[in-house]
Amino acid sequence: MYWEKQLETIPREELSLLQAERLQKTMANAQKTNFYRRLFSRHKIDPEKIKSPEDLTVIPPTTKADLREGFPFDFLAVPLEEVVRLHSSSGTTGTPTVIYYTAEDLDRWTNQVARSLYAAGVRKNDVFQNMMSYGLFTGGLGMHYGAERIGALTIPIGAGNSKRQIWFLKFFQSTTIHIIPSYALFLTQLIKAEGLDPRRDFNIRTILLGSEPHSEETRRRVEEIYGAKAYNSYGLSEVNGPGVAFECAFQEGMHLWEDYYILEIVNPHTLSPVPPGEVGEIVLTTIYRDATPLLRYRTGDLASLVEGPCPCGRVHRRISRIQGRTDDMLIFRGVNIFPMQIEKVLMSTPGVDTNYRVILEREDYQDKMIVEVEIKPELFLGDLQKLARLRERIQSELRSEILVTPEVVLLEPGSIPASEGKAQRVIDRRQL
Ligand code: ADP
Ligand code: ZN
Repeated sequence: MYWEKQLETIPREELSLLQAERLQKTMANAQKTNFYRRLFSRHKIDPEKIKSPEDLTVIPPTTKADLREGFPFDFLAVPLEEVVRLHSSSGTTGTPTVIYYTAEDLDRWTNQVARSLYAAGVRKNDVFQNMMSYGLFTGGLGMHYGAERIGALTIPIGAGNSKRQIWFLKFFQSTTIHIIPSYALFLTQLIKAEGLDPRRDFNIRTILLGSEPHSEETRRRVEEIYGAKAYNSYGLSEVNGPGVAFECAFQEGMHLWEDYYILEIVNPHTLSPVPPGEVGEIVLTTIYRDATPLLRYRTGDLASLVEGPCPCGRVHRRISRIQGRTDDMLIFRGVNIFPMQIEKVLMSTPGVDTNYRVILEREDYQDKMIVEVEIKPELFLGDLQKLARLRERIQSELRSEILVTPEVVLLEPGSIPASEGKAQRVIDRRQL
């Protein structure tokens, strides 16, 4: 049932003590980095006075911009010869960020991923097809070592090359896959084109969906298509990578491993904690990592705390599915819209197939939203009236969800370019 029973079911008071102890070590470590040494002296912070999570609030949060400015060595807390790996992400502006790992950091991260996978039911007898990109991206290697530690047969197939993915799924009868949600939907078109049925011809039992926001409706669709259970997997390279928070068998929020991180959920404008249950930005302090300590790191990810104990018995608090990012909110004719709201509507509409995108344009100083959506091929064979009704239905449901009326374009499957990495759902042409 548990990978590490003692740590997963540790009483909260003991967990607090463990957090305090690890935080104190982290503070001493942070003092060794150029970035935090400067920050502490600028804000007159004595790192020795930060003894428990409540004391953290005097420290200004660290942002992605800080990490970029600190490239390459300002966040490094150990001599370079202690470092055995780095991961780096390029981000949208192209200035990279880098995270370093000591051998012990990697060992702890591997354990964190193993614990996560175990909570989602992955076991030694599983065949684990890791369909995420290997390399600087943490989703590939991070999950890989966790799955190996459990003892699963781990296939490092990486992202893309859909034909080969399908062939492996069929030939090795993979029982667990780690996949980007939009790609899981897109792949079904190709599986069908190969004359295969994902339920009949494959043996998938567990699907780990991670690395991009997706709605509950998308999860249910993926489960339906593959005849498997799909679990939400959350992580970001800045605070290790996958395995930061993970769903257990109950699929109601993701346990965030609080012996590795101190969790805060704050109002992104005021930075004060949001009331329990309300959506805010996830802020994380790493307390179980040596090479790159991060204090109050602003993830940009929006979620809420799931209240109450989880029936699985794990005490680590749960966060909701990620609702969006502080930077992916669209402002359209003055209305705030998250792409996830659009996805939720589309994926709960029968007849809608697996891919969509939102295009924003400006014409004669007027903003226009076009929602392109692929629909089931059989609908194009039916009568036109039916198509028109579907289009109207989508339009009116979108209107009640996002309060603006987009133009809706129905397309055949395969019309919208699909990505093997994270999907680009919104194309904003208004600035061009
Ligand atoms: P990785 O996916 O390997 O962690 P990045 O560090 O580039 O790669 O991306 C991290 C970001 O991806 C997170 O900050 C979050 O916005 C998004 N993300 C990761 N997992 C999920 C998830 N399960 N649901 C929603 N968004 C996610
Ligand atoms: Zn649970």
